[in-house]
Amino acid sequence: MIDDAHSLPVEKVLDALGSNAQTGLKEDIANDRIRSEGENILTRKKPKSIFKIFIDQLLSPIIYILFAAMILAFLFSEVLEAIAILFVIIITALIGFVMEWQAIRSIEALQKMVQTETMVIRGGKERKISSRSLVPGDIILIQAGDVVPADARLIKQTRLSLKESMLTGESEPVQKDLEDLPKNTRITDRKNMVFNGTIIARGNARAIVTATGDNTAIGQISSLARETEHKRTPLEKKLNSLTHWLILLTLVLAVMVGLSGFLSSNDPVLMIKTGIALAVAAIPEGLPVVATITLARGMLKLSKKKVVIKKLEAVQTLGETNIICTDKTGTLTEDKMTVKKIIFENSEVDIDFIKNEEENKKLRGDPVFNEFIKVAVLCNGANTKHSNGNADAIDLALFEFTKEAGYDSSKMIEQYPEEYELPFDPNLKLMATVNRNEESFITNVKGAPESILKYCGSVLKNGQPEAIEDKSRWYKRADDLADDGLRVLAFAYKKTKEIPEEKVLLKKLILIGITGFIDPPRNDIAGAIKIYHDAGIRVKMITGDHPGTSRKIAQEIGLISKEESKLKTVLGSDYSNFEDLDSDQVEILLKASVFARMLPEQKLHLVRFYQKHRGVVGMLGDGINDAPALQTADIGISMGIRGTEAAREVADVILMDDKFIALKQAIHQGRSIFENIRYFVIFLISCNLAEVISVAAASVINVPLPLLPLQILYLNLITDIFPALALGMGKGSKGIMRMKPRESDEPILTRNHWKATVVYGLSITLAVIGVVIYADSYLDLSDILVNNMAFYTLVMAQLFNVFNLPPAKESFFINEVTMNPWIWLSLVVSIGITSLGYFIPFLRETLSLTSLNLDQLIIILVFAFASLLISQVFKRIGLVKV
Ligand code: ATP
Repeated sequence: MIDDAHSLPVEKVLDALGSNAQTGLKEDIANDRIRSEGENILTRKKPKSIFKIFIDQLLSPIIYILFAAMILAFLFSEVLEAIAILFVIIITALIGFVMEWQAIRSIEALQKMVQTETMVIRGGKERKISSRSLVPGDIILIQAGDVVPADARLIKQTRLSLKESMLTGESEPVQKDLEDLPKNTRITDRKNMVFNGTIIARGNARAIVTATGDNTAIGQISSLARETEHKRTPLEKKLNSLTHWLILLTLVLAVMVGLSGFLSSNDPVLMIKTGIALAVAAIPEGLPVVATITLARGMLKLSKKKVVIKKLEAVQTLGETNIICTDKTGTLTEDKMTVKKIIFENSEVDIDFIKNEEENKKLRGDPVFNEFIKVAVLCNGANTKHSNGNADAIDLALFEFTKEAGYDSSKMIEQYPEEYELPFDPNLKLMATVNRNEESFITNVKGAPESILKYCGSVLKNGQPEAIEDKSRWYKRADDLADDGLRVLAFAYKKTKEIPEEKVLLKKLILIGITGFIDPPRNDIAGAIKIYHDAGIRVKMITGDHPGTSRKIAQEIGLISKEESKLKTVLGSDYSNFEDLDSDQVEILLKASVFARMLPEQKLHLVRFYQKHRGVVGMLGDGINDAPALQTADIGISMGIRGTEAAREVADVILMDDKFIALKQAIHQGRSIFENIRYFVIFLISCNLAEVISVAAASVINVPLPLLPLQILYLNLITDIFPALALGMGKGSKGIMRMKPRESDEPILTRNHWKATVVYGLSITLAVIGVVIYADSYLDLSDILVNNMAFYTLVMAQLFNVFNLPPAKESFFINEVTMNPWIWLSLVVSIGITSLGYFIPFLRETLSLTSLNLDQLIIILVFAFASLLISQVFKRIGLVKV
């Protein structure tokens, strides 16, 4: 690396780093250098250490309570129980550890998928390499939309300005130049340098890398170091608070059970021990962890479908998204432009003309057509001088058209060297260049008709400029082209003796004509729009394009119908902001589906407007100007291929293959994950509730205890964890994309879910207490047999409980639980483990199990099944609504 690159002449920097401005580093030197200098990454963004992840698992209230229970068990000289609780602690911590570790690993893996690439010159060849492999001395080519990959000294630049707020806090773009600076210039003033992590707002440049990785200016700022640490997602926070609440409830119940032991004639010590065991058992250990792992699994699954989620919480927010704002060009349309029609003052050119030799010849003799071709070639962003290979489709279409018409664009570019360029500016909606024509200069301009026409005093007619008599005729012509769904651009020029100053650059232009480009809608878009519509998600097209073009495309893709097309279109220029609005305007904005002629910053304001009106907004954007809106939206979405690096950097979701429809899978995943977690929670709580109430009820009505402390621990640790995990693996219910999006403030369990949880829990309790009374009073069995029958009834009723979870409106036999193979596997495993407790002598003794006969087994099954039946009756008669 080199320290004071800003104070040295470029040649010195090149010499010091053994590089060449034209040919770059030699490949072998670059390879050697990466070995000595290390990769171009910020190593301080180290993930949490394995040890720390493990320790964190032990620092939770759940573990504290388990520890307390273990100590109590010791004090009561129940060594076996204390060991069992220790076992619970170890297993809980281990499961938590493995899951969090996996989650961190998957996030890292996903982050690798979105690694950035940089255009470098090495060994005389231009090519893209991973930004990680950059070394000092590399020559890089950067342009608007790129994130600067390392610190570098500028060699050449065209109108370069950068957003350096991440480094300086200053939000205004900083203009760059090449001049050498004094050694003690502050970083913020080093105009001849670009810095790692800053964003190129405009222009392009060639630069030599002077520092990489930790040696860059941003690498020195330590606050960024903790970036990859896993932050708690809102879902995890919700689950954590639910857990805390449940712990409290459990403790109260456990104390009550313990107390009731003292008051009743039961063995008080046994009751206290049972209370402890219940507390241990009923605490939902797996709850917070399961959220992390289900979210992480969701992310991995989506990445296989080419949807990369960068932040864990995004998966959840996707399930809540109720508005999707999208741009038009490239997302809804192909972004493959073709010139369709050109209108001059007194002629019209159809694309077929140039294919006809006769017509073509005539055209090439027309001075107006020749002037048009000149602007099309010279004022063109795809001109190799400006682009690093990422050209605008409009510009490519113009090159293609010129070629088809038989012109040699490279010759023209050589003949009229460029002296100045105003790159396409989405705020001005135009682009301009000044080209030398021997001793004079031509200003070439193209852009949106309204942007160009306002500067035009005359129009080219038969090769001569004439005053425009009626501008409205031109506006009408542009509108007509737009109404056919064409993208419309106007072309103008002027000749001057000197290079015009910036403030008069666009003054007194001569209009040449307007052009309509075809950009067909993507063929999968109409289907996608319908899917989002059915899912209760409102899609809004936000575009810088003409209202006519936007409306027509919106109709073609089914976003609006022909009748409502005017009603549902909003013109960006009609609104100065989206804040001080009257109720009618609010209504219009809420209903509108097409926003045309929108300025980049209006996208951000619109996102805020929707958020204010209960919108959870997913925003699709590609450009550097979209970055603030992407950041502000609840879910920022960028395209993997077309998106600029700046957009991809701030986005939460990246659609790797640029398909709008891919978002559907992400939304589906977001919705089903929440549903799965909900099932999981209802299942665990209702099972735990059944255990606590059964024991409490038995002690109150003075019948043999249905569960002994070690049985409770065994049951919770081993038996019911598998179905719970299997519930987390569900694919989501069939109608999930036809439901309305979930409200973002909706709790994990709504009132109806709580009702269902209590009903399921009480049904199980009823079965357990029923079997206890039946075996005790009617069959007059021994206490231990009564207990065994209750224990097995509880096991079976809890397993049957999984079938209670699918929504009431779905079939009992065919639903996502019965169709989930993991559920069936988990039932087999759970029954297997319960049988092990019976067949392995040591476990059998520990769990106080004795032999049961067939009749008793049948009674167990009947009671267990009855619990399912009771819950189902409640569900089918509508008393349980979920
Ligand atoms: P979006 O991509 O957001 O759907 P858009 O691509 O139509 O919308 P912009 O790229 O901001 O929006 O373009 C706005 C207008 O600027 C276009 O309607 C067109 O008239 C003009 N324009 C677009 N590209 C160029 C270009 N390369 N040169 C000159 N003018 C252009």
